[in-house]
Amino acid sequence: MTEPRVYLDHNATTIVRPNVIALIAETLGATGNPSSIHAEGRAKRRIVENARKQVAALVGGSPSSVTFTSGGTESSNIALTPSIRDARDPRPVTRLLVSAVEHPAVAAGARFRSAAVQSVPVDRRGVVDLESVEAAFGRHAVARPDERAMLALMLANNETGVIQPVAEACRIARRFGGLVHVDAVQAAGKIPVDIGELGCDFLALSAHKFGGPQGVGALVRAEEGLHVEEPLIRGGGQERGWRGGTENVAGVAGLGLAAEEARAGLDAFGGLFVLRDALERGIRALDKVVVFGEGASRLPNTSCFASPGVASDRAIIALDLAGIAVSSGSACSSGKTKASAVLEAMGIEPNLSSGMIRVSFGWSSKATDVERFLSAWSDIVRRSARKPSVSAA
Ligand code: PLP
Repeated sequence: MTEPRVYLDHNATTIVRPNVIALIAETLGATGNPSSIHAEGRAKRRIVENARKQVAALVGGSPSSVTFTSGGTESSNIALTPSIRDARDPRPVTRLLVSAVEHPAVAAGARFRSAAVQSVPVDRRGVVDLESVEAAFGRHAVARPDERAMLALMLANNETGVIQPVAEACRIARRFGGLVHVDAVQAAGKIPVDIGELGCDFLALSAHKFGGPQGVGALVRAEEGLHVEEPLIRGGGQERGWRGGTENVAGVAGLGLAAEEARAGLDAFGGLFVLRDALERGIRALDKVVVFGEGASRLPNTSCFASPGVASDRAIIALDLAGIAVSSGSACSSGKTKASAVLEAMGIEPNLSSGMIRVSFGWSSKATDVERFLSAWSDIVRRSARKPSVSAA
């Protein structure tokens, strides 16, 4: 009998929760446009507004500040535009500071002129350099006192799981009258997230990272006073003018329920560090591995490492053949042998980053998954020891 597959790529996308699948099917089965005023429309509106409350509760926001989107990428694209206006401070946003380890949804999704975008470095653990954040905000405040800068800083990194000091960065931004957008796509539903405690202005999340469907997410605002002059998607004024188009009601319902279940499961998710640590102990016992982001605060479910003798593309194929799904980085860049931009920003040498493997556990993971991984990994390490070591891609 063939063994069941072991899915250890939950940061790419996690397994959809069974109750979420049932709710999506039920919602799709009922007709009605949430903007219609008849009974069918009102029923759909209730579903959307209930999901808004569930999403707000996951991140400590207010339901009226939640905009439903097509996912994390769109949420960040909406926030990162110079056309954001703020009733509390009428100055325009003319500069964007972007941490060097942001996901392409942020790094490539911002609608600022490239000359107005500045990268902020991270240290070897992948933690943003707060002195550089302060210096960049300070320089902009002195050079252009009638304008504002915005910082884009993720809460947790998709590749390494490293958690950024977002609250501290937000305090710095406040001192200079700056705005902060937080890509919380890998954090929401995995660790406690509270938009008020973080002190940011915008927060992006995505359903498929915590047991909801792909293609739906939200942008959460901290303040009612924030608005956008040129929405990314113009249309019939849905979502309080932030995003035109009939809401993806079934997806939104699934997002809401996944948010509620993920919130209830935060303690259990926090316990995944036991599996991650067992895996890291196991790989260390076999070989001289380097764990990226070690020493920094990390998501409990993520381990990103490289063994100097093992090339990641070969290892991922061997693991796949052994029935185990892992990743060599973000899903968007897997399939390419290009070195990880995140590890490059951390100053990791190419001959090491070319061996990068990411293992990410999820709500359905169990101890036997670690055993299966370690057994396959030990074969790979043994075989690689007989081959010449890999060089930079
Ligand atoms: N931001 C981070 C940190 C991610 O990991 C991802 C997905 O991999 C995204 C943004 C994009 O989210 P979505 O797939 O919902 O567009």
